[in-house]
Amino acid sequence: MTNLGSTAPLASPLYTSAVYTIPDLDALDAIYAGGPGYIYARDAHPNAHALAAKLAALQGGTWGLVCGSGMASLSAAILGLVSQGDLIFASDRLYGRTTQLLRSELQRFNVAAEFHDVCVLDPLRAAMEKRKPKMLLVETMSNPLCRVPDLRALVGMCRQAGCTLVVDNTFATPQHCKPLELGADLVMESLTKMIGGHSDVTLGFLAGKDRSQLEHFTKTMSIWGFSGSPFDCWMAERGLETLDVRMRAASSNAAKLAEWLAAQPGVSRVVYPGLVNHPDHTIAAKLLTGGFGNMLCFELAGRDAVNRFMQRAPGIPFSPSLGHTRTTISHPASTSHRHDSPEDRARQSITDGLIRVSVGCEDYGELIAEMRKGLA
Ligand SMILES: *Cc1c(COP(=O)(O)O)cnc(C)c1O
Repeated sequence: MTNLGSTAPLASPLYTSAVYTIPDLDALDAIYAGGPGYIYARDAHPNAHALAAKLAALQGGTWGLVCGSGMASLSAAILGLVSQGDLIFASDRLYGRTTQLLRSELQRFNVAAEFHDVCVLDPLRAAMEKRKPKMLLVETMSNPLCRVPDLRALVGMCRQAGCTLVVDNTFATPQHCKPLELGADLVMESLTKMIGGHSDVTLGFLAGKDRSQLEHFTKTMSIWGFSGSPFDCWMAERGLETLDVRMRAASSNAAKLAEWLAAQPGVSRVVYPGLVNHPDHTIAAKLLTGGFGNMLCFELAGRDAVNRFMQRAPGIPFSPSLGHTRTTISHPASTSHRHDSPEDRARQSITDGLIRVSVGCEDYGELIAEMRKGLA
């Protein structure tokens, strides 16, 4: 064992061990009873704990669990909540894989899902009172078109109906929204995106306010095998250190870029919740703090125009994720929403000319110079 004396590392140590040594059976029992220490990394390990504690505090939760991906944290939330025969209500504008999870995977276990426009409250309230869903799943800002439901209203509606509100806060990050503080029951995030922040980890996070849920979801996570690796947790903890400065810079770049794009010939539509023409601008201005985030979309004439943009602006890589330090673009129709039906994409107005931009924290002048090349 390294002898650190009275010193301590300033940077978090990385504990790669998959298993721990325990002095005796009494010590083992003490750990199982909730005392300090670790046994087996799939159940718990120091790097997941350190990261989860910081994220839970940031989200205003009393507990948090790190999972191996954003989808793993969604699966943990759902599998921890529902049973055979239950009904889930979900937004009809979700990350594509989430829609697939609800629509095809859970159906095999006789858990039904109904999709609703969560930005139109009255019909949703009526359906909820009639159908009594076990949970409602929404995104703070939907992927890709940044629709922002009135979370406060949804909180009240779910309380009334005895329904658990689960919020995917990936696009907003705790920098712009803390759903638990607004009254949501559970919040999840893909740490793969803005919080990891450097496109080099795959992790997710689940948190809640009710401390008594921790044991239950810890068990769900370990039994189904949703835990994340120590190295990824260690990297994400490092990413989290700069979330605030990165998001400030990226959101400021995004706000300026949205205005700039709206004035460019050849750009038929710009979608950003900070723009007054966004359908949810008023709600977003009330709900979000410190700006409107780093995600926006713009529309070109069609698929060929998108290809030309990609070829001419290699400095803005086509890279179908989000939250990188530098600006990247994606094409929802071919990537995140590829598995939605053409009708479903049309309903959401995810067209073949739509480009989603994850704005980074690079110098704004550099970003615009590259954008100009793409639009030339
Ligand atoms: C990426 C993403 C997920 C899934 O996260 P992974 O870490 O890729 O599993 C879930 N929800 C949203 C909104 C996302 O953007």
